[in-house]
Amino acid sequence: MLRSLQRSNAQFRKASTVLPMGVSSNFRYWGDDMTLYAHHGRGARLWDIDGNEYIDYRLGYGPNILGYADPRVDTAARQGIEVGGVFGLSTEREYEVARRISDMVPAAEMVRFSNSGTEAVMAALRLAKAFTGKDSHVIVEGGYHGVFDAVLWYRNIEDWQPGMGDPAIEADSAGVPQMLRKLTHFTPLNDANYLEDLFRKHGNDIGAFLIEPIMGNCCSISATREYIHDARALCEKHDIIMIVDEVKTGFRVARGGVQELLGFKADLCTFAKAMGNGYPISAVAGRRDIMMQVSHGVTHGGTYTCHSVSLAAAEKTLEILDQTPVLANIRQYGDEMNAGMSRILKARNIPHCFAGHGSMSGLFFSNSVPTNYRDWLNSDYTFYDTMAPRLHDYGVLCEPDSREPWFVCGAHDGACLQQTLKAFERAVDETLQELGGSRVEQAVG
Ligand code: PMP
Repeated sequence: MLRSLQRSNAQFRKASTVLPMGVSSNFRYWGDDMTLYAHHGRGARLWDIDGNEYIDYRLGYGPNILGYADPRVDTAARQGIEVGGVFGLSTEREYEVARRISDMVPAAEMVRFSNSGTEAVMAALRLAKAFTGKDSHVIVEGGYHGVFDAVLWYRNIEDWQPGMGDPAIEADSAGVPQMLRKLTHFTPLNDANYLEDLFRKHGNDIGAFLIEPIMGNCCSISATREYIHDARALCEKHDIIMIVDEVKTGFRVARGGVQELLGFKADLCTFAKAMGNGYPISAVAGRRDIMMQVSHGVTHGGTYTCHSVSLAAAEKTLEILDQTPVLANIRQYGDEMNAGMSRILKARNIPHCFAGHGSMSGLFFSNSVPTNYRDWLNSDYTFYDTMAPRLHDYGVLCEPDSREPWFVCGAHDGACLQQTLKAFERAVDETLQELGGSRVEQAVG
């Protein structure tokens, strides 16, 4: 390793004495000697406590759409401090922000705020189940929707092979009651026949179909336009609420999110991440008749909902995303970066492709883009896994797990692009060298 992580390593040992695994979220633990501690971030760059500088493509798992410490948003947030925090009362600004969301996202007839993506998805599921009177829900294989029991289930693709039937359904965390398993069904992405069969068999129990059409936790594998429209029609036919989880795609892939990109309307949708440029705020939004369930017995709320700092930050962030061309610029940067990476990989005969959207794209070492999580098994993720730590050494911070896309923000500029491609070329060459003959065969074969 070229970087020194001496201080991060020492911090890990110290932190582990009081914080389990030395961190405050399991996903931040990258190994005893690889866990990074951030010092600060500015624009598209992040510095760790050893002073290593990175161009950041993780952006805290997506929120920092304008970059770290954006002065426009931070000025608004400081003014939000002056408001006073939380009051156990609503404020005038909530209407302004909800109005903006409703104008940007046609499906968002009504809006309620929360603090995190998890809370927003929890609320959406509860609303859907109250509205339909049906207790179970469908998750798309490879989808991630937060850290609560109803969605902490997955189809075990790693231990599965085609021809074995469906992969096993397992809890994604110890402590999730097994009795909840019967409430969760799974479907592979982009297979409308499978979904139709599932709805035919279990439609009487299914209240919600939960989908993230660009799977931001599964390398940005994406729904086709045809599939999403088929799924939309199937939900209507079977009286199932279509919840589109836009926690990552919302206010990122387009002003109106993935719904605008694919030309459809959700019944309910959830937003977080980009809407506050990193300040903790989220929203559940959707059809008036479903959202109005909150006045018919559905519980929704929380002490910290609409904290004055987060709300002020969201107001400014959404104004910028709505009224400037920043989202188009972000996409263009991503497309140019992918084209540059492609040139480097092509020159070395390495099969590859990109999934998703320029603003959050997944890099695959395979000839064709996977259409669902089961296909992901066919890509050479060992190549990615070997390359990622080298990129970190050369100052490019991508997620070490190949299932996480590369996020772009409004502060990535020409200098970032040049530096990224230079580091990428070097990391690719070293990865080829390290994996040696047989791996190279696989990588290029
Ligand atoms: N849904 C999606 C699509 C997400 O990507 C995430 C977080 N990565 C969540 C929900 C949960 O959000 P949070 O971590 O803010 O609770």
